[in-house]
Amino acid sequence: MLSYRDLITGFKKLGIDQNKPVILHASLSSFGEVRGGADTLLGATLASFHSVMSPTFTYKNMIIPETGPDNNGLEYGSGHDLNKMAEFYTQDMPADRLMGILAEKIRLHPLAQRSTHPILSFAGIHLSEAIDRQSLEEPLAPIQWLLDQQGYVLLMGVDHTSNTSIHLAEQKAGRKSFIRWALTPHAIYECPGLTGCSDGFNQATDHLAEITIMTKIGDATIQAIPLQEMVDILVPIIQNDPFALLCEKATCPRCQAIRNQQNNQTSEHSDD
Ligand SMILES: [Zn+2]
Repeated sequence: MLSYRDLITGFKKLGIDQNKPVILHASLSSFGEVRGGADTLLGATLASFHSVMSPTFTYKNMIIPETGPDNNGLEYGSGHDLNKMAEFYTQDMPADRLMGILAEKIRLHPLAQRSTHPILSFAGIHLSEAIDRQSLEEPLAPIQWLLDQQGYVLLMGVDHTSNTSIHLAEQKAGRKSFIRWALTPHAIYECPGLTGCSDGFNQATDHLAEITIMTKIGDATIQAIPLQEMVDILVPIIQNDPFALLCEKATCPRCQAIRNQQNNQTSEHSDD
C-alpha cells in the first residue's frame, strides 16, 4: 500500500521546480491502494507543488436547443429527455465524475477558488490570477496563464485523452471550436469557444516524448509536460495536418464537424 511519503518521494523524482504552477489530471485508482485515499493524494500533491489547478467541468447543466449554428457537432432537437434532467449550474455544482476525485477534492479545498464558467470551470489553489483570467469568451485563459508562467501539465495515471491543455494548442492553431448552451438560475448562457473531442489526443504522445518527464508511483505512471514546449510542438503539427489528433470514430460529431469544415474549405479553394 502506498503511503504519503511514497507519493512525496515520487513527485520529487520528477525534478520540476516546485514553484511552477501545474494543471493536473489524476486517476486515484491507477496508483493501486493509497493509505488515506484521495485526501492523501491531495495532501502529497499540495506539499509537492505550490500552486495547482484542475478542470472542474460540468455537463449536467448543458442543454441542446432545437436549432443553432451549422456544423456545430451537435444534433439539434435531440435533447428532449436530457434537457428535462438538466440541472441549474451553481458555483457549488460538483465537478463531473469524468474529472476524477482529485479535481473534486481540489474544488472543495478551503483555499481553492473556482472560476465561474457554467461548463468549463477550473478550480485552483494559489492561482487566483489564472482563475480570474477566464471569461465566457476565453474559457482556456487560465491554461494560457499557466503557460506564461512556465507551468506544467501533470498526468497522474491518465493519458493524453485527459490532457485539457492540448485544446489550447488546437485553439492557437486556429482549429474550429463549438458553441454549447448552459442552464443557470439566471439564464441560458450561450458559450462560445467550447473544445472539441480529446479521444484522439494519444497521437500526441510520441511528439511529446522528448519533453515529457516520467516516473512511476506505485502502479501509476506520472508524466510532467512543460506547457510552453508542448504547445510549441503541437501547434505546427495541427496546422500542417488539419486532421491531426482527431479521433477515428466515424460517428464522433465534433471530430466530423472539424473534418467537414476542412473539406468545405478545400473545395471552396479548388473552385477559385
Ligand atoms: Zn472525436
